[in-house]
Amino acid sequence: MMELIDPFGRRVEYLRLSVTDRCDFRCFYCIPKGFKDFTETGNRLSLEEFVRLIRLFSELGVDKIRITGGEPLVRPDISEMISRFSKLPGISDLSMSTNASRLATHARELKKAGIGRINVSLDSLQPDRFQRITQGNLEQVIAGLLAARDADIHPIKINMVVMRDRNLDEVGDMVDFCIEHGFTLRFIETMPVGAAGQSAKLSYVSLDEVRTLLSQRFEFEPCKMKGAGPAKYLRIKGERLKIGFITPMSQHFCGSCNRVRLSCEGTLYLCLGQQDKLEMRPLLRQGLSDAELKSEILKAIQRKPEKHEFNTSPDRVVRVMSMTGG
Ligand code: SAM
Ligand code: SF4
Repeated sequence: MMELIDPFGRRVEYLRLSVTDRCDFRCFYCIPKGFKDFTETGNRLSLEEFVRLIRLFSELGVDKIRITGGEPLVRPDISEMISRFSKLPGISDLSMSTNASRLATHARELKKAGIGRINVSLDSLQPDRFQRITQGNLEQVIAGLLAARDADIHPIKINMVVMRDRNLDEVGDMVDFCIEHGFTLRFIETMPVGAAGQSAKLSYVSLDEVRTLLSQRFEFEPCKMKGAGPAKYLRIKGERLKIGFITPMSQHFCGSCNRVRLSCEGTLYLCLGQQDKLEMRPLLRQGLSDAELKSEILKAIQRKPEKHEFNTSPDRVVRVMSMTGG
């Protein structure tokens, strides 16, 4: 089988798919205030185009797909999409990142359609704060999380972007919440992706500081986590809770990067922190054969950058996070 190996010897086996750049939230670090420049309908890939591209990637050795966005659950055809992807023979791991605002109504159908596991963004357990960070409703998110657990979606991982002036004082509460409900917890550092991400750099906290803070209350022990990706995991002694630390800024993990990202417009981004890309929508619509499309993907992987430069060139990536798929 043909494989996607980049010039640095890294095998690309993971595709993140931003199935829409639209969202019912407005997290201040993700979508810039007043942003209106969302993708036009005609420029969005159809379900059939998505399915075709995922099949081609799977034939090139990609077996992990994460559906992300924007907010995937704002797409009316999301369950059908998952059902179609889950039937592709090469896909062994199909997951989703969601803000969970619509999960209470979708959890059961997503499970039925074949979703494997989900990550849910949750930055605060205080309704007012949550609203200020996301413009969303915390109660709906909690209801969504509990519905996903009741629908037997497992594991459920909570992603918390830790920010100095916003929620740093809540990291301990989030640990308690995840212990109580049996969720896995992951802390994330803010990244300067797009104008919103760049504006959030004032809130940046290194996760070393979070670990030191938590060590005052909890004792950690090392642990292994299947499919950990870039997260480094620790367990709290005496508890089942595993905590992942995702440190793109303070300790980057580009050396083991195994992923690329496809936007809802059909743009293949080779690195979250660089502009290198391949526009696939025109190729699809010009009528290229499967073999020709695969050859274009193989060529693009040869241009995958070695690493992001968030620290040295923090204003490089101008596109918004919801378009790239975080
Ligand atoms: N709407 C879904 C959600 O919020 O989980 C999926 C898309 S969202 C872009 C995916 C992840 O990217 C979320 O965990 C979010 O917190 C994270 N994210 C967005 N902007 C970010 C930034 N500037 N720095 C770090 N993480 C960011
Ligand atoms: Fe929407 Fe997710 Fe971005 Fe928040 S982080 S605005 S929920 S896409």
